[in-house]
Amino acid sequence: MDKIAISQPNVTKSGLKAVNMVLKSGQLVQGEIVSQLEREIARDCGARYAIATNSGTAALHTAYYGIGLGSGDEVITTPFTFAATINPLLLMGVKVKFADIDESDFCLDPKEATKKLTSKTRAIVPVDLYGQPAKYDELHHKGVQTVADACQAIGSKLNGKKVGSLADVSAFSFYATKNIMSGEGGIITTDSQKIATRCQMFRNHGQNLSKRYLYEDIGLNYRMTDIVAALLIDQVKRINDITRRRQERAARYTKNLTGINGLVLPVVRQGVKHCFHQYTLRILKNFPVTRDQLVEVLRSQGVIPAIYYPWPLHLQPAYRKLGYKKGDFPIAERVSGQVISLPVHPGVTIKQVDYVSNLIIKEYEKKKSKKDGTK
Ligand SMILES: *Cc1c(COP(=O)(O)O)cnc(C)c1O
Repeated sequence: MDKIAISQPNVTKSGLKAVNMVLKSGQLVQGEIVSQLEREIARDCGARYAIATNSGTAALHTAYYGIGLGSGDEVITTPFTFAATINPLLLMGVKVKFADIDESDFCLDPKEATKKLTSKTRAIVPVDLYGQPAKYDELHHKGVQTVADACQAIGSKLNGKKVGSLADVSAFSFYATKNIMSGEGGIITTDSQKIATRCQMFRNHGQNLSKRYLYEDIGLNYRMTDIVAALLIDQVKRINDITRRRQERAARYTKNLTGINGLVLPVVRQGVKHCFHQYTLRILKNFPVTRDQLVEVLRSQGVIPAIYYPWPLHLQPAYRKLGYKKGDFPIAERVSGQVISLPVHPGVTIKQVDYVSNLIIKEYEKKKSKKDGTK
């Protein structure tokens, strides 16, 4: 039996054809296809500008540079995220201050974020974890910019507005496991012409946008290739279908797994369209097997779940310098020991969703009766 993986590339014949055309055209970089992708993403997100990059990390770095962050500035973000959210900030000499999450949606808790504001706070970086938009309505503060780490949330909406238009700047990733993917890739969206121009220059070594080799600013090579853009345009056209398929699978898991003691199913907040980058359960103490045991049970039956993320950033060796310790963010710490993400991508069939659900239910019933029997 084929394994049921946590993600699967979604490349169609038309995508391959588009890539082929770019390869044959001879214009592999800095061509019209990247511009076309930028226009399509901007239109889809309802943002004025989109700037393509060669990874989500590059998109975040460029966005941070684009809003003018620098040494001595402070930024507030969540410790329950991928390292890419903070690594560019640390390289820029920005001080990263964490605030705890809300356990119901895994996103930054606006009350906790507010407590961390100081006169040096320049930005808040909410992460739309697993695809659910953070509570942007409660994260805006005067003089503080918002940079959305929307790397997991393409296709999601909050109160009718697409992710990509909810913050001053938003960064997406097209890494191989994301809802829309090209191996590596990323994009930034913003309504600000000033930010867009800074970003366009930064991703291309600070060169003047029409005069090559005229360096007006510093920058890096964060450019996307046209090969990658061709693959992405093909998927952007299908984004509603991709999102709908993920939502169907998520709804099926929820239907199958509702009412089991010790399992907390994902909550979709009021007003949210959730793109279900991940379908993430929490395994509580009263569930008869531990989270890690459940991972092993599923693996032994050909299902590959994932843990996003096993440890919060503030307890990681690389960030010891930030001065945090165990107990500083109790919710992020607890939740990182509880979460398990199940395969929810369009390549999984509804039958496979039922198979995965039944493995969990069977394990629950087997161990529960054992537990009851030995009482
Ligand atoms: C994928 C991801 C990124 C960026 O990833 P790249 O691999 O550089 O494209 C950043 N933040 C989060 C939360 C992510 O999931």
